[in-house]
Amino acid sequence: MPIVAGIDIGNSTTEVALARVEGREVTFIGSALHPTTGIKGTAQNARGVVLALGKALEAAGWSREDFRRVDLVRLNEAAPVIGDVAMETVTETIITESTMIGHNPTTPGGVGIGLGETVLIDDLASAPEDRALVAVIPADWDYERASEELRKILGRGGKVKAAICQSDDGVLIANRLPSPVPIVDEVRAIDRVPLGMPCCVEVAPPGRVVETLANPYDVATLFGLSPEETRQIVPVTRALVGNRSAVVIRTPLGEVKERSIPAGELYVEGPAGRRTLNVEEGAGAIMALVAESEPLRDIFGQPGTNVGGMMERVRRTMSNLTGIPIGDVHIRDLLAVDTLVPQKVVGGLADEFSQESGVALAVMVETRELPMKHLAEAVRTETGIAVEIGGVEAEMAINGALTTPGTKPPLAIIDLGAGSTDASLMRENGTVELIHLAGAGNMVNTIITSELGFDDPELAESIKRYPLCKVESVFHIRQEDGTVRFFDRPLEPHLFGRVALIHEGDLLQPIPLRTTMERVRQVRRKAKGEVFVTNAVRALERVAPAKNVRLLDHVVLVGGSALDFEIPTMITDALSRYGVVSGRGNIRGVEGPRNAVATGLVLTWGREGT
Ligand code: ADP
Ligand code: MG
Repeated sequence: MPIVAGIDIGNSTTEVALARVEGREVTFIGSALHPTTGIKGTAQNARGVVLALGKALEAAGWSREDFRRVDLVRLNEAAPVIGDVAMETVTETIITESTMIGHNPTTPGGVGIGLGETVLIDDLASAPEDRALVAVIPADWDYERASEELRKILGRGGKVKAAICQSDDGVLIANRLPSPVPIVDEVRAIDRVPLGMPCCVEVAPPGRVVETLANPYDVATLFGLSPEETRQIVPVTRALVGNRSAVVIRTPLGEVKERSIPAGELYVEGPAGRRTLNVEEGAGAIMALVAESEPLRDIFGQPGTNVGGMMERVRRTMSNLTGIPIGDVHIRDLLAVDTLVPQKVVGGLADEFSQESGVALAVMVETRELPMKHLAEAVRTETGIAVEIGGVEAEMAINGALTTPGTKPPLAIIDLGAGSTDASLMRENGTVELIHLAGAGNMVNTIITSELGFDDPELAESIKRYPLCKVESVFHIRQEDGTVRFFDRPLEPHLFGRVALIHEGDLLQPIPLRTTMERVRQVRRKAKGEVFVTNAVRALERVAPAKNVRLLDHVVLVGGSALDFEIPTMITDALSRYGVVSGRGNIRGVEGPRNAVATGLVLTWGREGT
């Protein structure tokens, strides 16, 4: 009785289905997965195949090296497409010689607004008594000494209206003053605070954000600015929006430059020839043009612009990966999503970032036929098992998806992977339509990383996968849906007050970002919706009969991203508006949305009886 292993090598995961096949009778005896090793379709995949197959053997009750149990390995004919994501700013504000501090130290001191001239604390005693002052306190002044000095000056009638402090001492100093003044602390580059200049410090009450310094007309009022100067201060006020505390210092040389880098034009080549669009028009306009230009021949960016550089980089990466000469790399699909890209504010004194608008582009590049023969040979050498190339990935996927209880042809599936979103439709007569679209799990991670302003791929993956909570006491958390949950045992003290991710087994992982639960949730859901809901509709429009999504009955979601705790529901909601029933697949009634291609590879062999 032959034992067949169906093996699906994806961009991110290699999946195995192991079965005993007897005529039309197929009994599945093990399945497994392992991260894909190397670029999909290359001989480097063999190692991942061997590891995944070993795990499947183990699941079937044999040892990992027991390859001789297997009579045949069927590999998928990997789709000759490969995806990549890039991100670029569309506008960029540069503030030079700037005069602003806007950040969220955990504990600023005092509250309200203080206006005065910046003076180093060492020179406070000798400053003219009738002048309003803002004390600048470097870290070598500890809070005891600093507050004593301020008390002394205030006691003899000096007018210290606010303070800017290098260390984390805002509260400690404010609490030691007869009447607290606003103090912004944790200003790392204190030595770059210009002295002898008019300055305004604002600290918002707990739970609020600065209002005066985030409003250009209030800043104009405070400093007596002309209309022209007010226009120039706008980028400063914009960068201060949402901060708990802020400082604006007016320096005569202060020069604010708003530089709008030309985002550039996209050239989209389709059946009607080349059409042009400025990236500044945004994701909506780009996607409309892409839709009108189906089937795409290629996409280029205007040389010497942001998007030009971006498209070149994508082409070069693809060329390096696949060995195809750069001139032969053709972009066959593109997904654009409007995003925010954090830009370091030049001249900010506490590592300020301002959010500039940008666009994330995922592209799908058609490669030459992948060197599957080499790979098949490598797997045969390493395992000693006969290997054949089984069938086209999308066809295998739909055959596997049909093992989901409650499904029958005609059936459409959407395979939500890491690099691409693929869709296929099997008609009643068994013929299959298929397409590959740019943009999937990796793009969601890229958008999350950029909008929340950090640089840690693992954190992005976790933020995508796990629901959020806020640890409100050592015994309870508030989950992102608003419900409260209590714990029998006290939570670790370092979690208190933090925004955290709820991993399996109620393990809490605090997020090392200064942001709110609501913002993280909003960024996460927007990224998922703009990638996967957009692509689900786009994909179905392409495979549906007469391009009409309403003519579809059932849509099964498969692939790693269909495991997501909210993506399938988002897609189901969106598709219900077209009267389409959709949901997460459950391959063979046991595998959930995974293993569709591997299962299909086994089943089609059984059926053909070859
Ligand atoms: P491929 O077929 O391209 O190898 P997969 O079907 O393995 O891709 O899907 C990989 C994608 O699935 C990745 O983007 C990964 O982040 C995502 N993924 C895997 N598990 C989960 C999960 N539990 N929740 C959300 N996304 C997940
Ligand atoms: Mg896949």
